[in-house]
Amino acid sequence: MKEPRPKAAARREASAPAKSGAREVHAPKPVDAATRTEIFRRLHALNPEPRSDLEYTDAYTLLVAVVLSAQATDAGVNKATRRLFAVAADPAAMVALGEEAVREHIKTIGLFRAKAKNVVALSRILVERHGGQVPASREALEALPGVGRKTAAVVVNIAFGEPTIAVDTHIFRVAHRIPLAIAKTADAMEAALTPIVPDAFRRHAHHWLILHGRYVCKARKPECPRCPISDLCRYPEKTAKAPSPVTGDSGSGRSRSARAG
Ligand code: SF4
Repeated sequence: MKEPRPKAAARREASAPAKSGAREVHAPKPVDAATRTEIFRRLHALNPEPRSDLEYTDAYTLLVAVVLSAQATDAGVNKATRRLFAVAADPAAMVALGEEAVREHIKTIGLFRAKAKNVVALSRILVERHGGQVPASREALEALPGVGRKTAAVVVNIAFGEPTIAVDTHIFRVAHRIPLAIAKTADAMEAALTPIVPDAFRRHAHHWLILHGRYVCKARKPECPRCPISDLCRYPEKTAKAPSPVTGDSGSGRSRSARAG
């Protein structure tokens, strides 16, 4: 059993994405097992086979796309990889292409110099030590240049069907808002979520939470009125419907309970 978090720390986490206008709010307790199951049942019903927004054709192009996605948007990565994969879509071809040419193809995304170096280096290791294949273990993946814990978790989940939960900024925020769990770091959140997400939903849990965070439970202003799990979520600062242009009702953009809280 975990030590209970100090209330002040929990409050900061629940409202962390809101960089301005942060207010002291009551930090709710994480939802119970039945509620977790219902949350994932609904997310599953809405999107039974969720897919990454990154474009890829196999484990190798997925790995490269995820490596390139650090501090870059998926749309920006897709734009770059369409050019890159047209000329090099396997490790041997990437090594042959070389760092300078890779850099040229991906120069529109952040940290492109370091990423080009890592992509060529990891491709060379795949050729020399893994027969040109992407290894299926997190440990082997994490030994590759530019591949951290989160990247490895995403790759083994999508490419090899492992029920990993790779915690990114969206999952961290959504998990705290509902809350599914409270944790200080992404790794701690992964450790907290992994055993409590129902087995039946663990395979796709990270996709559902990422997509929910990206398109509904957005960092600056969550779209609670159209959220499919709004009645189950305990976030004290849920947003309300936009004010009526005729009556001007509900003008604050925050729910009544949030204002009262
Ligand atoms: S109700 Fe609002 S805060 Fe809660 S999960 Fe949905 S969008 Fe996020």
